[in-house]
Amino acid sequence: ETIGAHLAGITAHFGDREALVVAHQNIRWTYSELLDRVNRFAAGLLKLGLSPGERVGIWAQNCAEWVVTQFATAQAGLVMVNINPAYRRSELQYVLDKVQCSALILGPSFKSSDYIAMVHDVVPELRLSLAGRLNAANLPHLRHVIRLGVEKTVGMLNFDEVADAVDAADLDHLAKVSALVQFDDPVNIQFTSGTTGSPKGATLTHHNILNNGFFIGETMRLTEHDRLCIPVPLYHCFGMVLGNLACVTHGATMVFPGEGFDAKSVLDTVQAERCTGLHGVPTMFIAILDHPDFAAYDLSRLRTGIMAGSPCPVEIMTRVIQHMHMKDVTIAYGMTETSPVSFQSSVDDPVDVRVSTVGRVHPHLEVKIVDGGGRIVPRGEKGELLTRGYSVMLGYWGDEEKTREAIDPARWMHTGDLAVIDEQGYCRIVGRSKDMVIRGGENIYPREIEEFLYRHPKILDVQCVGVPDPKYGEELCACIILRPGTKADAEEIRSFCSGQIARYKIPRYVRFVSAFPMTVTGKIQKHVLRDQVASDLG
Ligand code: ATP
Ligand code: MG
Repeated sequence: ETIGAHLAGITAHFGDREALVVAHQNIRWTYSELLDRVNRFAAGLLKLGLSPGERVGIWAQNCAEWVVTQFATAQAGLVMVNINPAYRRSELQYVLDKVQCSALILGPSFKSSDYIAMVHDVVPELRLSLAGRLNAANLPHLRHVIRLGVEKTVGMLNFDEVADAVDAADLDHLAKVSALVQFDDPVNIQFTSGTTGSPKGATLTHHNILNNGFFIGETMRLTEHDRLCIPVPLYHCFGMVLGNLACVTHGATMVFPGEGFDAKSVLDTVQAERCTGLHGVPTMFIAILDHPDFAAYDLSRLRTGIMAGSPCPVEIMTRVIQHMHMKDVTIAYGMTETSPVSFQSSVDDPVDVRVSTVGRVHPHLEVKIVDGGGRIVPRGEKGELLTRGYSVMLGYWGDEEKTREAIDPARWMHTGDLAVIDEQGYCRIVGRSKDMVIRGGENIYPREIEEFLYRHPKILDVQCVGVPDPKYGEELCACIILRPGTKADAEEIRSFCSGQIARYKIPRYVRFVSAFPMTVTGKIQKHVLRDQVASDLG
């Protein structure tokens, strides 16, 4: 099934139910209203002369128009390209060059003058000629720039204008175009987070992401009565698939608390909208739990949600279950290239298993754990995780070489993550192969040491990285953010470890920091942290 056909089908069932609430825009739409806007914008895009297969970039934070664009591009057979709003000139240019967008949708609601200044700052090629025509010499494919908000900018169309220009004939034309879209056509180019280097553009089909969204919702037991708070970014698969597609495949309501993440707006929105679910990366849950007014909020409707994106500490999961009413919270593991989810814990898993593993493999997927030589390791041993099945991307857009490195001839996706699967099939992600520290021939998995250090009452957050060492090759350094108002020194931390974990795993260095380098999706960039620590110590 295509995403467009699916949205129409679910609307036939749940047309009067709320599809979307956007707190910061004061918007509330039923499924029927959403579908109507989606169809009009889709028909408007075709009316601009775009044809199926062409790329439409969206460079905006979470907003209602983002959701409309997601479904409208799918409906019209176009390929949406998610562009991170934090990108600046060189990153935006990299993306635009790579995927050659025919149209670019820009947000959010900057004032006109700021807006133009920013666009010019980022893409000086987007100078507007005196006649107000777009003149993007270096971007020959770019024909239309559509901006969000009500203000007018010369040379750009407003989002609403595109939809408002549509008449009945245009909608008929859309229906014909839509009917020809195939379930295995590309629908989305989704850039990876760039945690380990430059973001890569994963090309995903309707089949890839719609099915993944469906199985995610199934595992969460979402129904049309659920209201899922989505504070994670839509330009990343977490928001777009685990959020939007999981909801839309179950008739649930998508609730957006703000453009970007802010603990207070999440708390306000969950309470006011009586949300039953909440997604977040671990750092978001930490910020919510530690908000000074946390105890004053009524979060009693919460039931479910997903923590994912990076290692999910047992400690944080436990607090979420105990203090946020999220008894059904699950951990998901995945990567952009696999739509993204391939493991997810289930509501039925015992709590101790649920907080400490990423659960079992998702339906209809194959996985294996291999050693350096590509042989399957015995159960319970560590190795690289490989996945195969319906959810594996077509490839990295315009990069056959990187695609071949990632997906082997038998279609196994090499995740670059180190994992262990136990006898019952529960999987633990023990780190990224790139982050593993090898000290004097012994493998140290930073994740394991971090989990241990989280038990220290003064530690709010901790990341362990390897630093070069002439004697051992690498030594471990723990970078610690202390809880507000507490003090500790390196000796205290090291003696906390002493006798509890093997000597070689005790961090040789301890640094106290106030923040970690993050990607805008809220992930900690260990390679940046590692470089910082190495240069501090060097
Ligand atoms: P890049 O590929 O550009 O370096 P990235 O891998 O962070 O960035 P994503 O596709 O957004 O980009 O993230 C996927 C990665 O996130 C996984 O490969 C894994 O390392 C990590 N991850 C996701 N979920 C979990 C989880 N539940 N536990 C541990 N790690 C996770
Ligand atoms: Mg990756």
